[in-house]
Amino acid sequence: ARKAALTAVTGPGATSDGHKVPLLANVGGPGDVPAALEAGAEGVGLFRTEFLFLDDSKQAPSEEKQIAAYRAVLEAFPEGRVVVRVLDAGADKPLDFLTPADEPNPALGVRGLRSLLDHPDVMRTQLTALSRAAEGLPVYLEVMAPMVADRADAKAFADACREAGLQAKFGAMVEIPSAALRARSILQEVEFLSLGTNDLAQYTFAADRQVGAVSRLQDPWQPALLDLVALSAEAARAEGKSCGVCGEAASDPLLACVLTGLGVTSLSMGAASIPYVRATLAKHTLAQCERAASAARATDSADEARLAAQAVLSGE
Ligand code: PEP
Ligand code: MG
Repeated sequence: ARKAALTAVTGPGATSDGHKVPLLANVGGPGDVPAALEAGAEGVGLFRTEFLFLDDSKQAPSEEKQIAAYRAVLEAFPEGRVVVRVLDAGADKPLDFLTPADEPNPALGVRGLRSLLDHPDVMRTQLTALSRAAEGLPVYLEVMAPMVADRADAKAFADACREAGLQAKFGAMVEIPSAALRARSILQEVEFLSLGTNDLAQYTFAADRQVGAVSRLQDPWQPALLDLVALSAEAARAEGKSCGVCGEAASDPLLACVLTGLGVTSLSMGAASIPYVRATLAKHTLAQCERAASAARATDSADEARLAAQAVLSGE
C-alpha cells in the first residue's frame, strides 16, 4: 500500500499549492542514471565526479575518458538540468597525485577546490572535458566547486571556468560555515549555491563525519544547521539566484519540507529517496512548510526540531 501511495504521486516536485521544488538525483557516474530516470528525477543536482578519479590514484583520467563519462550523464537528461561538481579530492577521498600525505587534519587541509587551485592543470582538463562533453547537447549544464570558503575562492573557480571556455552556469557549494555567513558576497562571483549539508554539519559542529562517536552532531535537523541553510537561501533570494540542497538532508521527506520552507529552491538526493520526498512535499502547502521551518528553528536540539516540524505538518 505504501508503494502504491508513493507511485500515485508523479511529475515534477511541488507543494500541494503548486510551489515548484525540482527533485534532482545525486549520481556518481553513468551507472547511476537508470535509477535516477526510473525515480523521475528532473535532472542531476550533484554529479560526484571524484568516482571517475578513484580507479587510479596516481594520475587523473584522460580527457577522452572524462568526456565519455560526462556525456553519458548529460545525454540522459535532454532539456534537464545537470549540476556537475568538479573533483572533490582530499580528506575522506584522498588521491595520491593531489593530496598532501602528511596533513595533521586532512578535513581542514588541502581538499576540494583547494587541491584543484594547487593543480590548475587537473582543473583545466576537467573543465575542458566538461565543455566538450556538453557540445551540441540541449542540456542545461551547471558546474560547481566543492569547499568554497570565501569570495576569493568563488572568483578563482569562476575565472577557471571562463578560461576553459565553459558555456555553463558556475556555482559554489556551501559546505563551510564562512560561505553561509557570507553567501551574498560569494554570489557576486557565481550564479547559484548548493548546500552540502554533510560537510556543513561537520564544519559547523567540529564533528568528523566519519567518527561514529560524534554522530549526534551530524544530525541535519540541528537548529544551528537550519540557521545556516536559512542564511544561504535568503542571500540567494536577495540576489535573485538559486540555492539548492544536495546533502543527505534533502533525502529526509520531513526535512525536505522544512528546507523548502527555509527558501531552498531545489533538492538533490539519492534516487531511491525521490518518490518519498515527492509524495510528502505534495501533501503540504508552502505556507505550512514555512511554519514547520520556523517551528524547527525555534527549538534547541535536532530531536525537538524534528518533533516541532512533525507537529506542524501533521496537524493539518
Ligand atoms: C556534502 O558534503 O553534503 C556533499 C553533498 O558532498 P559530499 O557528501 O560528497 O562531501
Ligand atoms: Mg561535501
